[in-house]
Amino acid sequence: MSDTPRVGVLALQGDVREHDRALRAAGAEPVHVRRLADLERLDGLVLPGGESTTISRLLEVFELLEPLRERVRDGLPVYGSCAGMILLADEVLDGRPDQQGLGGLDVVVRRNAFGRQVDSFETDLAFEGVGDVHAVFIRAPWVESTGEGAQVLARVPEDGSAAAGRVVAVRQGHVLATSFHPELTGDDRVHGLFVQMVKEAQ
Ligand code: GLN
Repeated sequence: MSDTPRVGVLALQGDVREHDRALRAAGAEPVHVRRLADLERLDGLVLPGGESTTISRLLEVFELLEPLRERVRDGLPVYGSCAGMILLADEVLDGRPDQQGLGGLDVVVRRNAFGRQVDSFETDLAFEGVGDVHAVFIRAPWVESTGEGAQVLARVPEDGSAAAGRVVAVRQGHVLATSFHPELTGDDRVHGLFVQMVKEAQ
C-alpha cells in the first residue's frame, strides 16, 4: 500500500486548486484529470464544486462521462463536493433536463436547494466520524432522500431555518459527498476521511 495515494481532481471547471491543497494537507498527491489518459493509475478521484451543468457538458465534450461512470462502478473511491455531489447522485431534482451524471450514490439530490434568497451561508455541524465542522454552502444542493445503501454523515443543525435537519453529507461504500465545501475552510479533516477511504481501498 502506497503511503501517498494519487488522487485525481477533475479539472474541467470549478474550485480545483482548493482541493489540491486540501488533498496535499491530508497526505495525498493530487493529479489533474482532463482527459482519458489522466485516469490511469489513480487511487481515488475528487469532483470539485463548480457548476454541475457545465461540468456535465464538459464531461461529454472530453469523452470522460462513460469512462468515469465505469471507474466509479468498478469501485474507484470518489468524493464530490457541492456540484460534485450532484454529479454522483443517482437522481437530481431541479437539474437541467440534459444534465448527465456519473451516479453511484443512491440518493435524490435537489440542486440549488437552499433557495435564491439565502443561497450562500455558513454553519457549524456535526459530521459523523469527523467531529464538528464549519460548513460553507454556496448555491448548494441538499439530499432530499437517501436509498438503502447511503449512510447519512451530516445534517444542517436544528436551527429553526427552512433547511434545518436537511442531509448534507453522505457516504455509500467508496463514494463520499458533501453539499458544502470543506476545501474552502482550511480544515482538512473531511479530505482526511476521504484519503483514509482511498487507502483502505488499496
Ligand atoms: N449550484 C451549482 C450546481 O448546480 C453547485 C454550486 C457549487 O458547486 N458551489 O452545480
